[in-house]
Amino acid sequence: MKQPVLTALGNDEIFHEEFVAAMSDRSLHLIVLPTEQCNFRCTYCYEDFSIGRMRPEIVQGVKNLLSRRMAELEQLNISWFGGEPLLARTIVEDISSCAVEAVAEAPQVQYSADVTTNGYHLDLATAETWEQLGIRSYQISLDGPEALHDTTRRRANGQGSFQRIWGNLLALRRSRLPKGLPHPTSPARKEACYAARPNSLVIRANGTIAKCTVALSDPSNTIGRITPQGELRIDNGRLAPWVRGWGGSDWAAVSCPYVGMPRSPAPLLQIGSRSPVPS
Ligand code: SF4
Repeated sequence: MKQPVLTALGNDEIFHEEFVAAMSDRSLHLIVLPTEQCNFRCTYCYEDFSIGRMRPEIVQGVKNLLSRRMAELEQLNISWFGGEPLLARTIVEDISSCAVEAVAEAPQVQYSADVTTNGYHLDLATAETWEQLGIRSYQISLDGPEALHDTTRRRANGQGSFQRIWGNLLALRRSRLPKGLPHPTSPARKEACYAARPNSLVIRANGTIAKCTVALSDPSNTIGRITPQGELRIDNGRLAPWVRGWGGSDWAAVSCPYVGMPRSPAPLLQIGSRSPVPS
């Protein structure tokens, strides 16, 4: 007897799914950089550390944004990025507490949070506190065994970092915290980059809004700014090249909009104010 065969989604159907998810104003993905300073100087790092810690009015702006948007959301994801987010732990906890409180008032919202950290300051007490704040997914890089890792992932003082990170990871493994690896997605399934999604925004420590966490030093990556009141002032012309792939069903341009990005953008989509981005 023939076994039933599950039909995989075709590329067009997947593109449509990704399009619907990317355009939904019921979903918000914020990649927040609470500081752009780092205690490491990895040999391949592309960041220049010129922006420091997020100022209080920007922190308040992110909190106000969450308050303004919560009632209309069904999905909220906050990704903590840097710099090294654990150097601005109080900011992470301040905004996360605000998110948890707001979600408690809006039970329709599915909230998740993750962090990209070098792991050097990730002690058990911090991880337990962050677990209570909904931060339950970590991306921590080890470049190999100690001798190899310490040649590339050096601290700012030039010393290695492996032993401390490894000790932190072992302490987490021994703890009561839930553990597991992310479910692998099908290798054949294409995905849009968050930078191509209008409902995904990078909030930098100085309050500017960007799309891509790789091209941080490229001026074309700045598409607007957040106000202390939590308003998103986004320049339509600067957003347009990042989302250009949706209009032409262009998988390459939604998979990595930074590659091949046109430098003289034409307006395509409008989110927020139509005013130009104030300097
Ligand atoms: S470099 Fe390309 S794939 Fe990577 S985050 Fe930027 S836009 Fe996305």
